[in-house]
Amino acid sequence: MKVVLENLTKQFASRQKKGEVVTAVNNFNFEIPDGQLIGLLGPSGCGKSTTLNLISGLETPTTGKIYFGDEDVTNLPPEERGVGLVFQNYALYPHLTVEENIIFPLQNLKGAQKMTKEAMHQKAVETAKLVQIDGLMERKPKELSGGQQQRVAIARALVKIPKVLLLDEPLSNLDARLRLQTREELRRIQRETGVTTIFVTHDQEEAMSISDLIIVMKDGVVHQIGKPQEVYDEPVNLFVAQFLGTPQINVFEGEIRDGQVWIGEEAVLDAQGREDRKVWVGIRPEGFIPDENGPFTCKMDRVEVMGRDVSVVSTHEKMTGKSIRSIVSAENKFRPDQTEVKFSLKPYKVFLFDRESEERV
Ligand code: ATP
Repeated sequence: MKVVLENLTKQFASRQKKGEVVTAVNNFNFEIPDGQLIGLLGPSGCGKSTTLNLISGLETPTTGKIYFGDEDVTNLPPEERGVGLVFQNYALYPHLTVEENIIFPLQNLKGAQKMTKEAMHQKAVETAKLVQIDGLMERKPKELSGGQQQRVAIARALVKIPKVLLLDEPLSNLDARLRLQTREELRRIQRETGVTTIFVTHDQEEAMSISDLIIVMKDGVVHQIGKPQEVYDEPVNLFVAQFLGTPQINVFEGEIRDGQVWIGEEAVLDAQGREDRKVWVGIRPEGFIPDENGPFTCKMDRVEVMGRDVSVVSTHEKMTGKSIRSIVSAENKFRPDQTEVKFSLKPYKVFLFDRESEERV
């Protein structure tokens, strides 16, 4: 089911300052295509949960509309929207077994939808198989691991075949290894069901790794929507460039002058035909090429071996004093006593942002 947000805004009375208003969601306009997995991404407090709550119906918008397909659901209560919800803390019923938890949403169906006990059992088994917990049906939540509990929560959200599945930080209570595994599972389950899924995370790597599309937000404003690789390769502004990527993009004060990009007194890149202006120069860690004749001269601090690649930590000492993190192929050999390293740059890994507006130029 396609989800459309139209001029959607949500304001709250501030919890901190009496009489002030917080705009948690500021004029959202976007369309989530049917059957896709969408990662809603941004720093803490940027309005991710509020967006999800508006889509589920747990919050009512201040202005604007929400459509599921062509249907305006803005004024429908949550139970009539056909959404499946999964929260960070699973919220399973502790006194019920896994099977009873999964069939819970089926028990209150009315009229023609009403199901027999046998049909509910069948449905529970089918859904449990999908999330691979069908061997645990008689257990109580406390007898399950965090990852298994999260699967039960996902099964419960899927059992009624929702139009839209909404997950709020679904993996954040899991340890690192389980988190990795469960995110792959989430991708698989979503592919198998084809349910339009929106999941909230503040973890950019998590969002990038499994989403069809990511929506990057800050302070209640959508900054960029796109395929993960596209957003990484073509960030629209400094915030998006800094938010995506580990290690983080390196940022220097610089300027475009006489057809070149300058950082300090070094002309680091060609910028023929571009208007002179002050800029932020963003260089992705993988944008540095060790090159004896390169324009970027740094003091070598240390080399961290990461297998196929090495991370070179250096300081752009004479010019900006800034620490630089670069990722280069392990085939580049550095001497243990090496004190200096020179780099040239991959132009497509360098982004220029206006110094004032921080928009990409
Ligand atoms: P986190 O990642 O920390 O959960 P988030 O991106 O999900 O954050 P929201 O919980 O949507 O952000 O909050 C967005 C803004 O709206 C924050 O400034 C928050 O304090 C404010 N806010 C959210 N709910 C309310 C409320 N019921 N009353 C007042 N302010 C609220």
